[in-house]
Amino acid sequence: MNIILLGPPGAGKGTQAQRLEKSRRMVQLSTGDMLRAERASGSDLGQEVQAIMDAGKLVSDAIMIRLIAHRIGAPDARAGFILDGFPRTVPQAEALDVMLGEKKLPLSHVIEMVVDDAILTDRITGRYTCAKCGAGYHDRNQKPKVDDVCDVCGSNQFTRRADDNAATVTQRLQAYHTQTAPILPYYRAKGILRQVDGMAAIEEVGRQIEAILTSAPGVLKS
Ligand code: AMP
Repeated sequence: MNIILLGPPGAGKGTQAQRLEKSRRMVQLSTGDMLRAERASGSDLGQEVQAIMDAGKLVSDAIMIRLIAHRIGAPDARAGFILDGFPRTVPQAEALDVMLGEKKLPLSHVIEMVVDDAILTDRITGRYTCAKCGAGYHDRNQKPKVDDVCDVCGSNQFTRRADDNAATVTQRLQAYHTQTAPILPYYRAKGILRQVDGMAAIEEVGRQIEAILTSAPGVLKS
């Protein structure tokens, strides 16, 4: 089964994708993570996208389509993938359709995680992760049980994303509303768009997603 998790930055796409990786052995394909890995490696691509990401703007469609086309074709993605952060524009959605058609990979659900902007800013500016195992935390809503010690692996090293600051969040939300939200009618017209309440607790959001995935797949209208 191949799905898309859609929603604004901070909606919880990454959190839910990681849960699905564990519960259903699907593969999370996060374009944000791919770009951050390029930056960390110091590659030409990483250097090219650095300023754009730090400004909270979108990387060009051409770069993103090339990046995801390469990853979607990898053998591990055959078991089923969760797209997280892609597509983010209508041209990306259209290119994805072509790519999936060529590879004969059907898309069964596009799940929109609905969250109010006011909540997103608080979520994003407070979030951080364990540098060793990637477990997610929040300054106010989800602290480790013991101060400065990761609940999962015991590490005391934590990291924050460079673009998780108040100024950049405003730009990222604007990019979502102007460039990404137009994807919603695109998938609604195809009959595969479903919604979950992204403001509910993590477990409850997971339950709503599971209910969608166990229901009949959407019937793709061409
Ligand atoms: P994310 O981790 O999904 O919040 O992505 C972090 C940043 O990476 C975004 O603010 C964009 O600058 C860039 N990015 C990730 N995915 C895409 C995409 N599909 N299209 C354009 N830019 C992207």
